[in-house]
Amino acid sequence: MSVTERTDVLVIGSGFGGAIPAYHLAAGGAEVVILERGPHLTAPDFTHDLRLGSYTRIVDLVQGDGITVVAGNCVGGSSVVYFAASLRAPSFVFDRRGSLGHRLWPSTLTRAALDPWYDRVEEALPVAQQSWDQVPYPGGLFAAACARAGRTCNPAPVAVDLARCTNCNWMLNGCHFDAKRSMLLNYLPAATAHGAEIRPLHEAQTIAPATTPGYRYRVSYTQLDAGDYRLPVGVGAIEAKTVVLAAGALATPVLLQRSAPLLGGVPQAVGRYFSGNGDRVSIADVDEGKVRDLLGLERAPGIPYQGFPIGKPIGSMSYDRLDPATAEFTRFSLQQIYFPGITDLLAQATDTPATSWFGVRKKEMRARWPSWLSVLAMTEDDNEGVFGPPPPTGSSTRVATSLCLSTLSYRPTANTLRGWAAADAEARAVLERDGLARVRPWSENAAGSVSAHPLASCRMGDDPATSALDERGELRGHPGLFVTDGSAVPTSLCVNPSLTIAALAERACPGIVESTAEAGVRARYGAPAPR
Ligand SMILES: Cc1cc2nc3c(=O)[nH]c(=O)nc-3n(C[C@H](O)[C@H](O)[C@H](O)COP(=O)(O)OP(=O)(O)OC[C@H]3O[C@@H](n4cnc5c(N)ncnc54)[C@H](O)[C@@H]3O)c2cc1C
Repeated sequence: MSVTERTDVLVIGSGFGGAIPAYHLAAGGAEVVILERGPHLTAPDFTHDLRLGSYTRIVDLVQGDGITVVAGNCVGGSSVVYFAASLRAPSFVFDRRGSLGHRLWPSTLTRAALDPWYDRVEEALPVAQQSWDQVPYPGGLFAAACARAGRTCNPAPVAVDLARCTNCNWMLNGCHFDAKRSMLLNYLPAATAHGAEIRPLHEAQTIAPATTPGYRYRVSYTQLDAGDYRLPVGVGAIEAKTVVLAAGALATPVLLQRSAPLLGGVPQAVGRYFSGNGDRVSIADVDEGKVRDLLGLERAPGIPYQGFPIGKPIGSMSYDRLDPATAEFTRFSLQQIYFPGITDLLAQATDTPATSWFGVRKKEMRARWPSWLSVLAMTEDDNEGVFGPPPPTGSSTRVATSLCLSTLSYRPTANTLRGWAAADAEARAVLERDGLARVRPWSENAAGSVSAHPLASCRMGDDPATSALDERGELRGHPGLFVTDGSAVPTSLCVNPSLTIAALAERACPGIVESTAEAGVRARYGAPAPR
């Protein structure tokens, strides 16, 4: 028989969206428990290899219909596996209207309003601005190609301790050197120092009204086997005065969908309006001779480039197409990025009669792998992702260690396709000029899209019909139930989203503390940035 426990605040998920409120609530005097579905690994566990059972323990590949999404599954969430590019969203993003035709962000939220919260996160992580000397070879190559094509390019700001970084390029596996400033190094240890308790391998399944007077919600969970996350090894329930739901944009809406009958319904926008941040990946197959002759680059004597696998995954990016004066769905950033070994299989040999993963052309292309350069475009998509009915447990059907099948369906609209076409054309204009490179799509692009930036599946806004959360991040009609992860972000951002997710989570904290105090907890807001 399971025992029902009680706490002031229950946080579900331990990524940016969970760790930040957990810290502020715990530092403010509340009793905090964090349920995290994945395991708790630290730097020594993060190995530099492709063995199943190491990085696959913490990275989930989630297959939907028309979209594949990559996400973290561990204490620290996707911050443990991410590439740490840390950017503020451009001002125009907050005025986006999409195909709905009305402002999608709450009227109180502008870039200026979010700037103080961005400041806090940048201080806490902290974020460092790379110099050109710290940008790896692919970033330099991309910048040189941009300059030659009359474009600008800048080093990307990153949440990395640049003095500690060895440029090993294994960021997807978790940082073995504690150089990447994930939640494992700032907000989570600061939260536990104030008494917060993290429970790994605990997957929340439902949220229901509490049965104990004075408590608002009851969260039921399953304990998972450390060797096979498909196997439940225990169950339990915790009642809390406040619940902070931060299971990520792939899981938060599913948990709410399953809980809807217990909660007497949830807003209709839950599980709708998902955005993949307009992510679009291409791979440029670079001509080494042209790198030497056109760009005048030499990485080592006699070797112009061959530097694809060397360095941090993200070095530089171009902001030229982020002009607020241009029409919605034509604005995007282009970012040099690296995806390690196994995912590079996804490059597509487009000069074969049919799209092919195999064959001579593909082999030839693979042989030139050190000469590749991949580019991520982050465009304005149309929030067209929709989740189907929830599976019996979890947020998707786990078919193998890190492979999950989701009910998420993503059918790009003409607007989204227009943005991708514009981004593809720009990548070609920069990289194919005078035969410098040949730009190829990822295989995934043929079948749909791939995203590492899931957003907006339980978004905030002013319109109750199209946004599940109010402007404080509280689920409409459910006092004391807050959502603070990527699902709360209303639209794609044209840049990587983690800093915006984190800034919104910081911004939500005063309201969460206030609500918790109203429920009878002696909690105060005002803790400094964690150290
Ligand atoms: C490979 C990769 C590279 C990236 N690179 C960048 C980058 O360079 N810059 C950038 O800005 N962004 C990057 N991102 C995206 C960024 O990491 C995410 O947008 C961000 O971390 C999401 O934060 P979150 O709090 O919304 O969710 P997450 O960090 O995903 O946290 C959700 C947590 O909830 C847990 N969970 C899920 N369901 C349950 C449940 N039922 N019960 C308990 N726990 C649950 C999950 O295991 C997870 O730990 C990258 C992502 C990936 C995967």
